[in-house]
Amino acid sequence: MEKIIIIGSGPAAWSAAIYAARGSLSPLVIEGQYSEVNQTRGTLPMGQLTQTMEIENYPGFPSGKIHDYIESAIPTDRVAILPPNEPEQRTILGAELVELIRSQAVFFGTRVVSDEIIDVDFNGKTLKLVGIDGNLYESQTVIIATGASVKYLGLKSEQLYKNRGVSACATCDGALPRFRNNEVAVIGGGNTALEEAIHLANFASKVHLIHRRDKFRASQILVNRLPEYPKIKVHFNYVPTEILGTQEKGVTGIKLAGTAGNTDLELPLAGIFVAIGHIPNTDFLKDNIELNEDGTIKRPIPFCSNTSAKGVFVAGDVADSRYRQAVVAAAGGCMAALDAEKFLAEN
Ligand code: NDP
Repeated sequence: MEKIIIIGSGPAAWSAAIYAARGSLSPLVIEGQYSEVNQTRGTLPMGQLTQTMEIENYPGFPSGKIHDYIESAIPTDRVAILPPNEPEQRTILGAELVELIRSQAVFFGTRVVSDEIIDVDFNGKTLKLVGIDGNLYESQTVIIATGASVKYLGLKSEQLYKNRGVSACATCDGALPRFRNNEVAVIGGGNTALEEAIHLANFASKVHLIHRRDKFRASQILVNRLPEYPKIKVHFNYVPTEILGTQEKGVTGIKLAGTAGNTDLELPLAGIFVAIGHIPNTDFLKDNIELNEDGTIKRPIPFCSNTSAKGVFVAGDVADSRYRQAVVAAAGGCMAALDAEKFLAEN
């Protein structure tokens, strides 16, 4: 019987583990598994940060030569699985950041298993989790930090240029040299798409906002702001059919098909930001926990990490459709660990 099990392996999970380990709760983290299925659906261990490029907005990592620090702070066997880090690299990569947080959690005594939870039972006093090979885990508290998966368009060419001009996070990647003073596109018509287009207008020479209908889904207040940004050009009634690029340059453009009888279009671009929504990773919870309408886990007590199930707490993007930032997820992990610790003390 564990005191605390944390499911997930992004910044929320490892940050919860750091707090729980330092609180002498000897946490067990179930970090997921490397498999083809997880690769395809974007749910590989270590989370969404591994899918992004440089991280320039996580506090504590100003630009500088960080190569030597990464080499010294991350165990050799883990360095081997990271993307190449050149000695002259000046900013931290997403994969490195989450690896550093993991190392910190392990340093304080966190135990890690590579398994994938496929079923849970939160009805009894003992919380039960079932792994993909039938392993049963029992715990007094559980923190769910399984994150969300980016919805991609599903184009073959999109897969080819991920992290080479195709991004799913303008806040994370928009200021990178690849996109600065170049033309980029945002796909989608929801709040995220409009916010990303506005954010990108600070860096790009032009932002093409491409939406499949002739009416935005985003809130009116954001739609009303668009005319303030002359760099943003809206293309209604278009869907991407192919992302163009070369091995050398990455993304060079996009092909669009008209959805309302309008002529097909081809745009030269340096980057494409897919903003068509996220899917919180909650399938394994089945009916054991209450969800919000948008699929995130419901937090019945404002500002707390409690869920509808007793002893079960939540952190990170699996409960957050609004901020979706690594620093917010890490803070949520801290909150969930403190709430779990309090629960254990009181029960
Ligand atoms: P949404 O689900 O709200 O919007 C997704 C958009 O992508 C829609 O316009 C949809 O088109 C389009 N889309 C979906 N699938 C495809 C596809 N295959 N091809 C082309 N277009 C596609 O997701 P968001 O990420 O924008 O928002 C998620 C939630 O987070 C929402 O509740 C939102 O309000 C909230 N949010 C709030 C913010 C804020 O308050 N500041 C900021 C960001 C998000 P269609 O409209 O035709 O369905």
